[in-house]
Amino acid sequence: MLRRAGLSLCHFSLGRKSSTARSSHSSQAKMSKPVQAQRLEGIDKNIWVEFVQLAATYSKVNLGQGFPDFPPPDFLKDAFVRAVSGQSQALHQYTRAFGHPPLVKVLAQFFGKLLGRDLDPMTNVMVTVGAYQALFCCFQAFVEEGDEVIIIEPFFDCYEPMVRMAGGTPVFVPLRLKAPEAGRLMSSADWGLDPAELASKFSERTKAIVLNSPNNPLGKVFGRRELEAVARLCVRHGALCFSDEVYEWLVYDGRQHLRVASLPGMWERTVTIGSSGKTFNVTGWKVGWAVGPDRLLRHLRTVHQNSVYHCATAAQEAVAQGFQRELELYGKPESYFMQLPRELQQKRDYLVQSLAAVGMKPIVPEGTYFLVADISEFKSDVPEDPSSDEPYDSRFAKWMVKNKGLAAIPLSTFFCNAHKSSHSHFLRFCFAKEEGTLKAANDILQAWRREKSSP
Ligand code: PMP
Ligand code: GLN
Repeated sequence: MLRRAGLSLCHFSLGRKSSTARSSHSSQAKMSKPVQAQRLEGIDKNIWVEFVQLAATYSKVNLGQGFPDFPPPDFLKDAFVRAVSGQSQALHQYTRAFGHPPLVKVLAQFFGKLLGRDLDPMTNVMVTVGAYQALFCCFQAFVEEGDEVIIIEPFFDCYEPMVRMAGGTPVFVPLRLKAPEAGRLMSSADWGLDPAELASKFSERTKAIVLNSPNNPLGKVFGRRELEAVARLCVRHGALCFSDEVYEWLVYDGRQHLRVASLPGMWERTVTIGSSGKTFNVTGWKVGWAVGPDRLLRHLRTVHQNSVYHCATAAQEAVAQGFQRELELYGKPESYFMQLPRELQQKRDYLVQSLAAVGMKPIVPEGTYFLVADISEFKSDVPEDPSSDEPYDSRFAKWMVKNKGLAAIPLSTFFCNAHKSSHSHFLRFCFAKEEGTLKAANDILQAWRREKSSP
């Protein structure tokens, strides 16, 4: 043993010089190779990580990241407390990988009613870690190298990196602004798809289109004609539709949310995505879902079982109870899904007035809990800097949170790199906030305006 050890030691010391040189050479070679996978190239920055940190550091009033600062409904909180403190030890353990049985059952009943078809809880519904994971599963399951995915701009920012990570190519089609008549506030309904432009984006390479109605950030609620145009193109080109409907209950002024999966020819090719984060105001629970035909969902299940496998059981149990209540109260005034938009509409109207009064021209949203406003009249506070690569609205939003204590999100976040600079004089504000929070935002804006107008 000793001899062998000695030998090998001797051998090691004799060969030391050359082996060190060799290993430093090879470690240099290794160092020069990027450590990360190529698919991560260019997607390392994340607006939410950056702006959540800025808001935490500087904001007095945070209307940035989209989450409510008021509590979720008592019936839901109570259901969660019962789930974690009750007799059932099972609710602390794994449940069925593709969704806790009580939750998939009630989601199948609920969405079956909305879509007018019988849904099988085991094959037509899958529970995910928030809508984010449902989206991720769609791109991973269906998009291949060389496939194109049509994304309507402005778009919830994660669609683009998710398409790229799957090896696909995003193809952007803009919502174009029709100038409103003079004297009227802009509305999210002024933004629309040009049917010919939309049609021109479809080709044999198109694998899917991502639809997001109501749309984050504009709050646009797509109308029947627009959805039918999308549906016709999907059917003609054999494309799939990933329909992100996380704000499905947040529609205002009597508008109706239409589900693209209910249009002719669309059920078979659509995955509809939702989230309890938005539905019940519990963004931190991260319980989302995907609804669709088995021929599509079976592939989502493959991604899910080989990645996260399972979502928190107690949160799923509580969301199941919340949906059970909503199923019983469906269409009644006591239903939370009816109450929430009524409350939010008032908050929207307050923020619209507040922004309009100081000259940040609001685009009145038909849905979601976001409101986009034009900051052009405030440009004198933050001069343009032609030498900066950063979009103007991003510099403005950073200046605003640091100097005024008010956090909002630059609209350029929701455009691809090539289009950011042409949409950089808007900010997105979240109005899912307590009255006191919105009043505090109003105070900041009013004081700012007074400061600007005093000589
Ligand atoms: N889609 C859109 C349009 C969103 O705004 C969000 C943020 N809630 C998500 C998906 C992700 O939802 P979740 O928090 O449930 O993952
Ligand atoms: N969907 C939310 C928003 O648009 C939050 C996104 C996030 O935090 N990643 O503000």
